[in-house]
Amino acid sequence: MSKVALVTGGSRGIGAAISKALKDAGYTVAANYAGNDEAAAKFKEETGIAVYKWSVADYDACKAGIAQVEADLGPVEILVNNAGITRDAMFHRMTPEQWNEVISTNLNGVFNMTHPVWPGMRDRKFGRVVNISSINGQKGQAGQANYSAAKAGDIGVTRALAQEGARAGITVNAVCPGYIGTEMVRAIDEKVLAERIIPQIPVGRLGEPEEIARCVVFLASEEAGFITGSTISANGGQYFS
Ligand code: NDP
Repeated sequence: MSKVALVTGGSRGIGAAISKALKDAGYTVAANYAGNDEAAAKFKEETGIAVYKWSVADYDACKAGIAQVEADLGPVEILVNNAGITRDAMFHRMTPEQWNEVISTNLNGVFNMTHPVWPGMRDRKFGRVVNISSINGQKGQAGQANYSAAKAGDIGVTRALAQEGARAGITVNAVCPGYIGTEMVRAIDEKVLAERIIPQIPVGRLGEPEEIARCVVFLASEEAGFITGSTISANGGQYFS
């Protein structure tokens, strides 16, 4: 039986590329999403990958959603915490709602998803958790105090859980994408992208979602068992940490 991989935010953008790459690598994949039913239905039709709707910001919904995935497909052995949002504003204009929404999804979401699958991974003595952080969690970004805080927090959780999971055969790693050409980034003003963002990327282009997906497939593999607590930076040379 193939291992079950659950990808949050797995129906669009980077998550969709991760879901597809894991399927191609032989995993049984479940893709979670939050609300875009149309995109999820299209993704399911095109890929044959099962989709499940709940918010990673809601602990009880995560527990129930994971229970459903496990009833349908089997125990979750690979968890990819990819779901994420932005609510950008300079700090002096940032509202508590903007702060809390981003922390709830991008940081609490990692707790809410990982906590329910952790005991099963410990019992089975195998697990792979991959957290999708960000270059802006590594270096900080003006206009993204909320996002930078959450994504830096994801790296902290990764390192703590790597130590807790090691003896139980669970690896926990982070991938920090730079600017990747998904809807999240295409939503940035074209002029800002062309004149301010792309010139800062030494390879001279945005990354492709598949370039992040390949990192995840590697970290999910049995062969990556000695790699835990690490952060792969995939950012075209924009930032070294
Ligand atoms: P997209 O906006 O393209 O897709 C986001 C996905 O996350 C969608 O499937 C969305 O579901 C889902 N999602 C959002 N909120 C929730 C929630 N509360 N519960 C469950 N699912 C949710 O994002 P990207 O593909 O660009 O980003 C994916 C990850 O990569 C994020 O964590 C992001 O922070 C990170 N990242 C992205 C970079 C980039 O350049 N694009 C750079 C660095 C990091 P739905 O379709 O229902 O809305």
